[in-house]
Amino acid sequence: MALAAAAAVTNPADLFARQTGNIFKSKSKSPGPDKMVLTFKPFEARMKHVFTISGSSRSTTPIVLTQISYQGYTGYGEASMPPYLGESTASVMDFLRRVDLSQFSSPFQMEEILTYVDSITTNNTAAKCAVDIALHDLCGKLMGQPWWKIWGWTNQDLISTCATVGLALTPDGSLDKPKIREKTKETLEFNLIKVKLGNSEEVDKGMITTIREVTDLPIFIDANQGWPEKGYALEMIEWLAERGVEMIEQPMPRLLLDEAAWLRDRSPLPIMADEACQRLSDVRNLHGAYDGINIKLMKCTGMREAREMISVAKALNMRLMMGCMTETSCAISAAAQFASQLEWADLDGNWLIANDVFSGMKVVDGYITLEDKPGIGVEPL
Ligand code: MG
Repeated sequence: MALAAAAAVTNPADLFARQTGNIFKSKSKSPGPDKMVLTFKPFEARMKHVFTISGSSRSTTPIVLTQISYQGYTGYGEASMPPYLGESTASVMDFLRRVDLSQFSSPFQMEEILTYVDSITTNNTAAKCAVDIALHDLCGKLMGQPWWKIWGWTNQDLISTCATVGLALTPDGSLDKPKIREKTKETLEFNLIKVKLGNSEEVDKGMITTIREVTDLPIFIDANQGWPEKGYALEMIEWLAERGVEMIEQPMPRLLLDEAAWLRDRSPLPIMADEACQRLSDVRNLHGAYDGINIKLMKCTGMREAREMISVAKALNMRLMMGCMTETSCAISAAAQFASQLEWADLDGNWLIANDVFSGMKVVDGYITLEDKPGIGVEPL
């Protein structure tokens, strides 16, 4: 049905004729080659601020930008490789060199193509995601429709996304309170703040107390596995619940499922799995131990699997959020297609970088907005 609608209102009618081989057949010449061509190049995203989470700091993130061209249309994708994911520019480029799309006659063979891509190696989820996003963008453009619409969802009344206030320390390791106040003020255009904790109790509580000197906005906490002792984790969560915190992401190390279940039974706040939830096969195992999951395209190989994870999580009555790495507006706009299905969104990756190379999803008054643009709705800048 989407195919017919798209063909009726956009010029790709002749393209669809080739896909469907029939009623929309046009006499016009093909605007480009009939084979998909995957190209890619490295890119370094520069962060506006040095980004510190429990255990590491950095000011740039390596990215590989991808394109899949077909019949005059181009789909854009991206792999983002924060160091803890275990991928690098070299590993992603090596992976992408192995991807042979010439064996497929149509980009609409998405299931077959992405199953093949996933089968090439065991890991490389970000590299796989770079192909997945570009393929979705391409197919959406061929259909003349955005994915939120193809999937039968809406772009109305979307949720807020949060902005992250990163940790700031002085050279002697104590909290840099003026810097935290300054960072907090920069996030006030959003309706929600995300704070990375998982440090010493003094630093963690100092972060929240300092932010609360600036704003009463609701806060999400991401402890990044930083509270390995369950009793301490519960004490921290109870303290945070009294200070306008709404939700806790990954308080304990990802493999401690029994402890996570213990904590969840007692926690006054919902607890979401991030590091513990990578792919579709993880979702079922986390049921009972976490209230919900944080889906990230770079962890789960992309939009196809993210959609499946949403279906499984909903069937298990688990709560849903979507997060991101440091990404350009390309991958962020791909994730934003899911916005109507989520309870929380943490899609500020493009806002954190100083050298975005795409225009796409916009945050207006803190809310995610999605335009009626085909594919993932991005244009290169
Ligand atoms: Mg997280």
